[in-house]
Amino acid sequence: PEVLIGMATCGIAAGAGEVKEAIEEELERLKLTDIKIVPVGCIGYCHSEPLVQVNLPGQPPVLYGNVDAAKAREIVKGHLVGQQLLADGITEPNFERVNLEEAKAFEPTGQRKQLRIALRNCGVIDPTSIDEYIAGHGYEALGKALTQMTPETVIDTVKRSGLRGRGGGGFPTGLKWEFTRKSRPGVQKYIFCNADEGDPGAFMDRSVLEGDPHSVLEAMAIGGYAIGASTGVIYIRAEYPLAIKRLKTAIAQAKEYGLLGGNLFGTGFNFDIELRYGAGAFVCGEETSLINSAEGKRGEPSNKPPFPSESGFWGQPTCVNNVETYANVAPIILNGGDWFAAIGTERSKGTKVFALAGKVNNVGLVEVPMGTTLREIIYEIGGGIKDGHRFKAVQTGGPSGGVITEDYLDTPIDYESLKAIDSIMGSGGMIVMDETDCMVNIAKYYLEFTQDESCGKCTPCRVGTKRLHEILERITEGKAEMADIDKLTKLARTIKDAALCGLGQTAPNPVLSTLKFFENEYLQHIQEHY
Ligand code: SF4
Repeated sequence: PEVLIGMATCGIAAGAGEVKEAIEEELERLKLTDIKIVPVGCIGYCHSEPLVQVNLPGQPPVLYGNVDAAKAREIVKGHLVGQQLLADGITEPNFERVNLEEAKAFEPTGQRKQLRIALRNCGVIDPTSIDEYIAGHGYEALGKALTQMTPETVIDTVKRSGLRGRGGGGFPTGLKWEFTRKSRPGVQKYIFCNADEGDPGAFMDRSVLEGDPHSVLEAMAIGGYAIGASTGVIYIRAEYPLAIKRLKTAIAQAKEYGLLGGNLFGTGFNFDIELRYGAGAFVCGEETSLINSAEGKRGEPSNKPPFPSESGFWGQPTCVNNVETYANVAPIILNGGDWFAAIGTERSKGTKVFALAGKVNNVGLVEVPMGTTLREIIYEIGGGIKDGHRFKAVQTGGPSGGVITEDYLDTPIDYESLKAIDSIMGSGGMIVMDETDCMVNIAKYYLEFTQDESCGKCTPCRVGTKRLHEILERITEGKAEMADIDKLTKLARTIKDAALCGLGQTAPNPVLSTLKFFENEYLQHIQEHY
């Protein structure tokens, strides 16, 4: 018998630490030493944290939501102990009767729509235990790659899988690996993990690192073997202290087990991983800025070409992939590229993790096959709009994306379909809005963010986003004129065309898309003034 407690940042913030203490005390009081307490990563149902799952042999797992210390004690006495004693044939257990109904057994909705590949271990295993990771086929993919595959066949498998960058760009991962492998043969190369998740409302990568850090280490070693790199670097934002702690523990364990370091699996392949900390600049999620920052320089983008695959970290060929992308690699190597390619849509394969937030009942982390519709995510998994309100729009792609209205709720989510309706997949932030939200304010909020995060290197972004924000402020304060709408549109288009990097090029998207679908709200603000 075991008790799983969701102890990612979301769980801890909701009080999972006290819940764990209460369960430990109660087990101690009842002298039950054979029940294992497993602190796990994000279980996904963040709206009902703290979460406790009871696993008894021969019985389906039961998940409890909104658990506090008192409920935790009830669960131990009424479910864990009671059921176990009954299972052991003891029909009259000698303990006080408890009301489990009051402990509110929690039934998650929309589970059938989800498919967990990247999140396969999150909320399931203890992320601080390499043994638990290994018990679930962990490091088997690395062993297979090193002992049964050539670097070329690893790359071919990833290419066949159709895996594309989950950080937002959507570039084919296998192709990126191939470019770096073929670039300047024989020189020192690097493989990077981009863990600088900075979109407001996005927490996919943090959850993977907190809940399953070994999956990323294993994939980086596989990638290192494929491209010919003996050093991996994880660039992680310093605001993720728990993820950093879990990574440090995982790296130390992998070294101890001979799964990182020298002569892996007796093949002579050496691979080690270092951590570099970001200081919270959104632009450092862009790969050239990230590399500059990792070298200790200002975190600002460089012109491309040269691309990092030719000249990246310390001028050497470098491959940068995001956390979620890596989390898919080991299953692809174990099950084959065709297995992964059979999931999803024609050009977007596999699954995608979304951080569902905003005016939706079930806020949390979801992983669905590409091609699932927004309606399925928001209504079936998300449980619909909060407090009986009406759906108005959903923003995908964070500050670089755009709003999607009710007319497009049945759009299957993939890279191309979202682009076709003027939004983007982005890294997976999904913020739902209801009829009480003012769309001009939403655009202003995102502009505030991008203007604040602009690194200042190029004028269109540095000055342009500031001017855009000023116009939006005039509009929301009732000080604008009709001509401002035209200025807003022209300036937004100019910034898109002229900014140096992705941050500036996409910064006007929230303005353009809210103008496209909700121009009436802009006009209302202006007309109220007259
Ligand atoms: Fe910096 Fe913005 Fe220019 Fe990018 S677009 S280089 S963030 S000023």
